[in-house]
Amino acid sequence: MVTITKSAYEGIIKHSESGYPYEICGVLIGNGCEIATFKECRNLNTERARDRYELDPLSFKEADDWARERDMNIMGIYHSHPDHPSLPSETDRMRAWPEWVYLIVSVNNRSFNNARAWVLNDPDSPFSEIQFEVNGT
Ligand SMILES: [Zn+2]
Repeated sequence: MVTITKSAYEGIIKHSESGYPYEICGVLIGNGCEIATFKECRNLNTERARDRYELDPLSFKEADDWARERDMNIMGIYHSHPDHPSLPSETDRMRAWPEWVYLIVSVNNRSFNNARAWVLNDPDSPFSEIQFEVNGT
């Protein structure tokens, strides 16, 4: 199980809704099993932004530096699924890094539907869902 602060969770939801009808993405930052904050990243895939994301390596690097300066790590990635359920696609699976948390936010017609978190234990297996708990402020 992972935990996520209320402020990070609400910020990610807001980002996902404001990006509608396009997929947005960003990184989850924290320590151990605790997601403390997040950073929005650019989606470089403008051609298929409705159903694909490609995280900008430059904004990834900036987020990574930012996290390290604060003794935190990038723990995973979040992205939105506009008008689709929060289930990982085959593309999501193929691109996923083992051990990272993949938070998928389903947005229906501009409003938050739900969010689910996934991890890939090894590259040849399907995603497993992990529970997350929203806490604090
Ligand atoms: Zn996806």
